Amino acid sequence: MGRIAFLNGRFLPWEEALIHAEDRANNFGDGIYEVVVTYHGKPFYAERHIDRLFYSASQIELEIPYSKEEIMDIITTAIEKSGLDNAMVYFQVSRGFSEREHAFPENAEPTFYLTVKPFQPMPMEERKRGVKVISYPDIRWSRCDIKSLNLLPNVMAREYAKRKGALEAIFVKDGVKFTEGSSSNFFAFIDGKLWTHPLTNEILAGITRSIVLEIAKELGIEIVEKPILTTMMDKIEEAFITSTTKEIIPVSYIDDTKIPVGERTLSLVKAYQRLKEEGH
Ligand code: PMP
Repeated sequence: MGRIAFLNGRFLPWEEALIHAEDRANNFGDGIYEVVVTYHGKPFYAERHIDRLFYSASQIELEIPYSKEEIMDIITTAIEKSGLDNAMVYFQVSRGFSEREHAFPENAEPTFYLTVKPFQPMPMEERKRGVKVISYPDIRWSRCDIKSLNLLPNVMAREYAKRKGALEAIFVKDGVKFTEGSSSNFFAFIDGKLWTHPLTNEILAGITRSIVLEIAKELGIEIVEKPILTTMMDKIEEAFITSTTKEIIPVSYIDDTKIPVGERTLSLVKAYQRLKEEGH
């Protein structure tokens, strides 16, 4: 029960999930990962996460040692073994371990591991109050569509946010546009329409982003997939961030600008809550 792990073919206690020091994840961040959450013991939109893992792998010429169905089985079994209703499942694949050399190793086997731990979504009352986010220069590479293990700029941004009393940092590219958060996507209502950055190499194609856009369509909200420019700040009527673990969190401040937590954002939060109850 509780924290468990799966490493290179077997389930084991979390404390025993040890990887070689010269794993390429360790030396180069040469790998990819995913995070899935469960509600009432069931994984939420796991197929989309597994599809994205295979997309990321294809982009870095990494072979995943399991099929999509096998990964789904590993996730389901891990959740069962953990005995957790609300769990966070983390899994990553690296190019394996080998003597440190930048080019791909010839004979290394990919390292696949997965861990399960308890997951507690932000309580609704806190969510409804909204959170402060802070802008931070987007100093990342040009393949942010790959969910790579290289997260140093994201780590720097999040630490900056923490020191400023903000929950999340929103990356600003070239001083002109908001791309996404350090581990979330960013949305804003402008002139009654829901704006978010288009799916390009400059952002991760968030699974929660895709779900929110589907909900918004159903609610008859007009969607604009275009960059939100920093010059549009005074036009932002409502804003929120999304991620698998954050779900939908309304934004109450962007830097020192107060943003109201509005009904449209809360209607999306409510609809998302229903999807969680139904299971997907
Ligand atoms: N952007 C980045 C940079 C992220 O790390 C995440 C979290 N995985 C997201 C967006 C949100 O993605 P998702 O909704 O799939 O969790």
